[in-house]
Amino acid sequence: MAEDAEVGLSSRTERKALEREKILQRERERKILRLIGHVLKKPQAERSEEETAVLLRHKDAVEDLSRRHVRRNVLKKRQEEVCDDPEELRNKVRQLAQAIKQANHLVVYTGAGISTAASIPDYRGPNGVWTQLQRGCRVSSSDLSRAEPTLTHMCISKLHTENMVKHVVSQNCDGLHLRSGLPRGAMSELHGNMFIEVCVTCSPAREYIRLFDVTERTSLHRHGTGRKCSHCGSELRDTIVHFGERGTLEQPLNWKGASRAAEFADVILCLGSSLKVLRKYNCLWCMNRPASKRPKLYIINLQWTAKDNLADLKINGKCDDVMTLLMKELNLDLPGYDRAQDPIFTLATPLLPEEEDSHNREVITLECRPQEDLGEAERHAAETKVVQGGWFGRGYGKGRRKKKKKYN
Ligand SMILES: [Zn+2]
Repeated sequence: MAEDAEVGLSSRTERKALEREKILQRERERKILRLIGHVLKKPQAERSEEETAVLLRHKDAVEDLSRRHVRRNVLKKRQEEVCDDPEELRNKVRQLAQAIKQANHLVVYTGAGISTAASIPDYRGPNGVWTQLQRGCRVSSSDLSRAEPTLTHMCISKLHTENMVKHVVSQNCDGLHLRSGLPRGAMSELHGNMFIEVCVTCSPAREYIRLFDVTERTSLHRHGTGRKCSHCGSELRDTIVHFGERGTLEQPLNWKGASRAAEFADVILCLGSSLKVLRKYNCLWCMNRPASKRPKLYIINLQWTAKDNLADLKINGKCDDVMTLLMKELNLDLPGYDRAQDPIFTLATPLLPEEEDSHNREVITLECRPQEDLGEAERHAAETKVVQGGWFGRGYGKGRRKKKKKYN
């Protein structure tokens, strides 16, 4: 027994010593990295003999730090918003108009960049949700339900009416394509729609379109909205697909529609997306075909995108500006959004009287109440309200673990 206790004691002491040694080792590594970083900032001629020796002794760390530096610069460059000058923009839009006229099957892919004019922040732009979250900032926003389809949404819808656009694939959950009048069958909302809750117990799944953001209480892997299906009594769920989740709902995701559209596409037009996420969906890009057999790719975005190097044409401009020029080139009138025509009002299922208090989000109404009509307190609340829960603001972050390296 006494021996056992001694073994236990010594192993505990050993463990402690080992822990301490680990901590000291980490301290030493940090110190070396700091020193190397400091030396690397100096011009070569100004480095002392001792400093040069340190660099030589820690070649691995030097290489790693230089790589990180290059990477940081590349990332910074990708964040920059670039705008083509007016003449170049007009030229490029002319080429795009030509491609659209000649296209047999034009498919449009959209991202958050097309909604920024609707006061919905994009994800990776300088003030985007993603950028803010990475900086550790809280995301606040005036109420999302206040947003209306932008000129770009309306133009896309118009191009569909004119039979020029065959299908729209969007990563946006803001429901603005639906509200622009685009028919359900002509769109795939790959990451869901904040206005739609569904009963998956009913077969086929039963949809309830609402006039408010149904995702207030939902987050990653928690999709229950708290309301019940009026047919079978099961709990309804939202349709949002978070990072790390696989979207399995047939609607509004409509993956079938998206992949069929890509299969037939001869031109793909991407608007307002960094394509970092869309790029990963292989079936959207026909990458299994040789390059010459793939659809032509046109990209409109202010920042770098993951497909820039494969694009036939990259237009650096704001979506609304480009669409305005494009409609002119195509001899089409600029469409406007008319709240009275917004299909969401006819599609929506009203809440039952006992469900009226089941949410706290603002309801879209036929009469738009402009900001100026709000009282001072209301306006302040709307502007400073931090959006909690739901598709926006929480659950959209993606944890990234950094690999630690050892330097001796
Ligand atoms: Zn049901």
